[in-house]
Amino acid sequence: MERIGLAKTTTIKNSRIKKTRKFQEFDSYSLASPQGYFLLPFRFHRLNPNREILVNEVGDFLIVPTGTAECIIEHKLNKIDQKELYADLISGFFISEERIPPLLSVLSTRYRTKKSFLDNFTALHIFVISLRCEHTCHYCQVSRATQDKNAFDMKRSHIDKGIEFMMKSPNPNVTMEFQGGEALLAFESIVYAVEKAKMESEKFNKRITFVICTNLAPLNNQILSFCKENDILISTSLDGPAFIHNANRRRPENNSYELAISGIHKCREVLGDGRVSALLTTTNLSIESN
Ligand code: SF4
Repeated sequence: MERIGLAKTTTIKNSRIKKTRKFQEFDSYSLASPQGYFLLPFRFHRLNPNREILVNEVGDFLIVPTGTAECIIEHKLNKIDQKELYADLISGFFISEERIPPLLSVLSTRYRTKKSFLDNFTALHIFVISLRCEHTCHYCQVSRATQDKNAFDMKRSHIDKGIEFMMKSPNPNVTMEFQGGEALLAFESIVYAVEKAKMESEKFNKRITFVICTNLAPLNNQILSFCKENDILISTSLDGPAFIHNANRRRPENNSYELAISGIHKCREVLGDGRVSALLTTTNLSIESN
């Protein structure tokens, strides 16, 4: 993605076209054009031969015809003939009619909010509690293994170290998320980790949100009761109807979808509606089936 400021493409200075990759003088960027607007920082990238995307400092974007970024940068945008685009660019903080945009405080508040995760350092701590899994999803990114829990589960000493590290985070609110493989295959390790983390959190005055990421196949009443007692959130996967889900998320009995749906119902019943969420992984099959 290109960024205004690093003038990689053609730039205009005093009506002369210069091809350069160097930064231009300050006035090259700040002088209002004859069209009466100033440039604000934004990035641009060509999506295909016909379309390009402009993205501002707070992540708002516009998809526009190819050549629009160049037209804006070269101050060739016409307020009358391109009034809709012009209005979108003004309201989206891509350009401004004043050197300092009148609504700069709105932009700066949004920027602060977007970057607020930096205030308190890391909040999310992921514990890959086991690499074992009884699924063989074709898009799996982990090196799943089905046997030998001693070799593929997180060691207690590593869990302790992870908790110690999490407690050092300056953030008073942390999330401890258990992932896998299939995290519930190492349920005893989760029990150990939750109990240990809760004990430590009292010493360090931290609030912990617990999340288990699971395909729900190993779910049982004992696990549900533990999640209920410890206020644990469940995050699962649901790739669509049975024929898509089971094609993506394979297991020997070809019943991943049925187990996921029944698991979601049980979690809602025992933990509450808002305590379980499901994410979709989009694959070629989901797109072709639409
Ligand atoms: S359930 Fe998760 S860990 Fe298991 S194979 Fe599928 S994507 Fe991989």
